Amino acid sequence: AAPMATPDGPEAPPEFDTSQPTIARVYDALLGGKDNFAADREGAATYLKYVPDAGRCAIDNRDALVKGVQYLVREAEIDQFLDIGSGLPTQKNTHQAAQELNPGVKVAYVDNDPIVLAHGRALLATNQSTIVVTADLREPQAILDNQEIKDHLDFSRPIALMIVGIHMHFHDDEKPDEWVRTLMNALAPGSYLFITDFVDTGEPLQKAMEQAGLESLGNGWIRTPERIEQHFLGLPIIPPGVDFLARWFPEDPDADIPDVDELQPYQRILMAGIAKKG
Ligand code: SAM
Repeated sequence: AAPMATPDGPEAPPEFDTSQPTIARVYDALLGGKDNFAADREGAATYLKYVPDAGRCAIDNRDALVKGVQYLVREAEIDQFLDIGSGLPTQKNTHQAAQELNPGVKVAYVDNDPIVLAHGRALLATNQSTIVVTADLREPQAILDNQEIKDHLDFSRPIALMIVGIHMHFHDDEKPDEWVRTLMNALAPGSYLFITDFVDTGEPLQKAMEQAGLESLGNGWIRTPERIEQHFLGLPIIPPGVDFLARWFPEDPDADIPDVDELQPYQRILMAGIAKKG
C-alpha cells in the first residue's frame, strides 16, 4: 500500500490511503463536500480543467437521483431501495428523498470505498430504516449473500436497484451489465432498475469528460445512447425512456421538455433511465 499522506482536510482514519484519489472522494470534492483529501481535490481540478461545469454535472446527477427516487416512491410505490455505488452523503441522498415521502422506506447503501461506510455509520446511527454496507458491484453474488442486506430488505417483494453514476467507471470489457443482470435476476417481479451514465453523442465536451476521468482516476468512459439502453437488459424502460437528465421527467411525461439544442453542453453529458421488471 502507498504511504499515508498527511491530510490537510479532516483527520484521515488509518484505513484510508489518502495519497491516491478515489471516485467517491473526487465526486464529493466536485459537489463541494468536505470528505476529500489533497489528491482528490487534484482529481477534481483535472475535471474542472477539461469541463469547467463538471460540478454542475455532478449536481444535476444528484437532482436526477432525487427525481428518480421520487418517481419510484410516489408513482411506482416502491418502499425498498438497493443503492449501489451510493457515494458520500454530501447532498440529499436516496434515504432522505425517499423517507420524506414515505418514512417506512428501507434503504441499503452499498459502496466499495470504506470512507462511505465510515461516514454513513455516523450519519445513520439513528436511522433504523437505512443501512450502509461495504461491498463491490463486481461481485454481485456477494451482495446478494450479504447477511445485513438480507436482513434489511425483503427480496420476495419489489426492490428498486439503483446503479446511478457507476457504469462509466467500468470499461465494456469488464461486462458491467452482467453484474447488474445477476442482481436483477434475484429481484421480485415489479422491481425497478434506475441508471445514469455518461453519454457519447459525438460532442467534444463529452469526450473532454472522458479524458478528465482517464487522466485523474484511470476510468470514466462515455457510451452511445444505444449502449446505455442495453444496460437495462431488455426490460421495458418507462417513459420518457433514456434521455439527457434535463429532459428526463419520469413523474411528469407532459412536462415542458427542452429541445436538445436548447441544452448547455454540460447538460448533454449524462443520461438517465428507469426500467421495470415485469
Ligand atoms: N450514486 C451516487 C450518485 O449518483 O450521486 C454516487 C456516484 S459516484 C460518481 C460513484 C460511486 O461508485 C463512488 O462512491 C464509488 O466509490 C462507487 N463505486 C465505484 N466502483 C464501485 C464498485 N465496484 N462497487 C461499489 N461501488 C463502487
